[in-house]
Amino acid sequence: MEPVRTLRELSCADDYDPNSLQVERARALIRQFLEPVTAVERVHVRAALGRVLAADVESPIDVPGHDNSAMDGWAVRFADLDPAGTTLRRVGESFAGKPFSGALARGETVRIFTGGVMPQGADTVVMQERATVTADGVRIAAGAVSKAGQNRRFAGEDVKRGATVLRAGQPVRPAEIGVLASLGIAEAPVYRRLRVAFFSTGDELRAIGQELGAGEVYDSNRYTLYGMLTRLGCDVMDMGVVPDVPRALEQAFATAAAAADVVITSGGVSVGEADYVRDLLGKLGEVLFWKIAMKPGRPLAYGRIGNAHFFGLPGNPVAVMVTFYNFVRDALLILQGRRDVAPVPTFKAVLASPIRKAPGRTEFQRGVLTTHADGGYAVRTTGEQGSGILSSMAHANCFIVLPVEAGDLEPGAPVDVQLLEGLI
Ligand code: AMP
Ligand code: MG
Repeated sequence: MEPVRTLRELSCADDYDPNSLQVERARALIRQFLEPVTAVERVHVRAALGRVLAADVESPIDVPGHDNSAMDGWAVRFADLDPAGTTLRRVGESFAGKPFSGALARGETVRIFTGGVMPQGADTVVMQERATVTADGVRIAAGAVSKAGQNRRFAGEDVKRGATVLRAGQPVRPAEIGVLASLGIAEAPVYRRLRVAFFSTGDELRAIGQELGAGEVYDSNRYTLYGMLTRLGCDVMDMGVVPDVPRALEQAFATAAAAADVVITSGGVSVGEADYVRDLLGKLGEVLFWKIAMKPGRPLAYGRIGNAHFFGLPGNPVAVMVTFYNFVRDALLILQGRRDVAPVPTFKAVLASPIRKAPGRTEFQRGVLTTHADGGYAVRTTGEQGSGILSSMAHANCFIVLPVEAGDLEPGAPVDVQLLEGLI
């Protein structure tokens, strides 16, 4: 299939049903429109944490820079050792950072500590437990080493000078900033942060701190979105609650799209509200409205407003999180310049509570995963699974992912789970 270039072409593609779109298909459709950011900035290694590398990193040095000792002991010439035991003459010390300046001659040894540079002439280290200092010198026990080179770390064995150690598109995590520091690199090139603007829609929404009137609810979606986006390293622009008033919405969409790479809204895409938002967005950009074959999270809008990507998430708080994990997260990672973006991994657990499900949609139930006595994993649901029950997300540590065709399940059935910890 030819790649689709505009949303209009996409909406005409014949193998696609906007009223019952499978999760995988929607993800693939969105992917075709994602162009990663290209702007690069150089930042201090610590500030690079959570960013994405914009260039390969080659090592300017060998790590370690010198052959050195892997333990506290005695640097020796292997050829000097008698399998029955040997007495050597102590001629000096090599501490980490304070090498022995001479060379080892026949029959000599140097006291050496972990990380100490191997003295010239020495090829092996005898661990200190296998040697005793006597009146005659240093007595190396019989069979203290089995081969030349033992307990010696070689220059460049971690990283060779000139080797590519990190790749463009790699996320910078604690290990990567450590590696950069180990190479003596103070600054790293990273892609600029993504700017993400978001707002909630709905006349019933109140901000925290306000009194709730009849039928009103606190706006929680802006908080979960703030959290999910911040954990992904985005620059966030919280635009508050926008009432269901055409002029206000139009203004909010235009402001958001002009300022951000990605615009995310919640609410206003379900039946009854979508037509109205659709008209508005038709004027400002190109947006498709889908009913995804998933639960929670059926309605979803995706498109472009100006140069910004637009995700119109459902209003229900759990649906916001589930659609974010399934569609927005991947898209943001790709836009950030990540090259290794894969779906969230799933693994099997044994169901410990019954599940009610009708075939036809992928379901993401909230689960509590525990370790079984036999070492495997067991999972139960958090209970009531309504898409408005946000506390279920806080009580869960995983999603139980039930495929489209699955029906009711009884305890003992194997199910797929996705861990929430570390996901975003
Ligand atoms: P909607 O998609 O706008 O029809 O909203 C679906 C449900 O989600 C309604 O019960 C809304 O009150 C609720 N809802 C929408 N937006 C929010 C929000 N930002 N915070 C909490 N609940 C919301
Ligand atoms: Mg609404």
